[in-house]
Amino acid sequence: MSLPQHRARRRFGQNFLVDRHVIDAIVHAIDPRPGDVLLEIGPGTGALTAPLAARVQPLHVIEVDRDLARTLTQRLPDARLIVHEADVLDFDFTTLPAPLRVVGNLPYNISSPVLFRLFDIADRLLDVHVMLQREVVERIVAVPGSAAYGRLSVMLQYRFDAEPVLEVGPEAFRPAPKVNSSVVRLRPHPVAALGAYHLPTLSALVQQAFSQRRKMLRNTLAGWFAPEALRSLGIDPQARAETLAVADFVRLANAADRSRADRAE
Ligand code: SAM
Repeated sequence: MSLPQHRARRRFGQNFLVDRHVIDAIVHAIDPRPGDVLLEIGPGTGALTAPLAARVQPLHVIEVDRDLARTLTQRLPDARLIVHEADVLDFDFTTLPAPLRVVGNLPYNISSPVLFRLFDIADRLLDVHVMLQREVVERIVAVPGSAAYGRLSVMLQYRFDAEPVLEVGPEAFRPAPKVNSSVVRLRPHPVAALGAYHLPTLSALVQQAFSQRRKMLRNTLAGWFAPEALRSLGIDPQARAETLAVADFVRLANAADRSRADRAE
């Protein structure tokens, strides 16, 4: 089903998978089952789409490139493939049944916004398998104290179990990207395990804490907590954001919400 005559469009981050072993390994990692509600972001010329649609019908795909979306629509009947010609960043995921399995070899130029879209709809997701720049996967799974640990690690690990499942070199794509890639698996934690009272507070706090990652928390979070308040929450005011665990950020965010509520009473 692939469309070799399509000329890759850089503005849509088009690097098409051509390595059969890599394609098989990704499909194996996804392990699609009949009855799954499966959505592929960016099917492109159909490298993953064809083997996925052979296992799960209908397969939903979202493709922004009109030419590719049309060709896919013509190639496979509606019963097997439902093509949503749309920008994934504007797509209303609530129009699809849940729980949803999301897969895709993502356009790298929009991978962070796509990940935050998936974060927002995590309660509708069963799991996610996406190919990303390897450096982004390293940030997602990074542990506290490492250079790669930052906002993306804290927010995604708050909501998901994250596990790298496959490393892929540039030669697996046409055209070959300049970077290495990896596939990561994300599985949402049960909602009961989450614990942040108010997600926007956690998000704002984490953003602020990492805004100057070399600075001490007593400085970066000066507008949020006095040093004594940090100490009473078990956080060393001299520490830097990159040393805090996800649970520490949740504790801080909840304390900020509690003190705001106390002030409002
Ligand atoms: N899945 C194919 C493969 O593995 O060969 C193509 C992967 S290519 C890296 C990314 C795909 O995402 C392209 O088909 C591109 O047109 C599509 N795309 C780019 N931006 C998009 C957006 N905002 N919404 C939906 N699809 C997008």
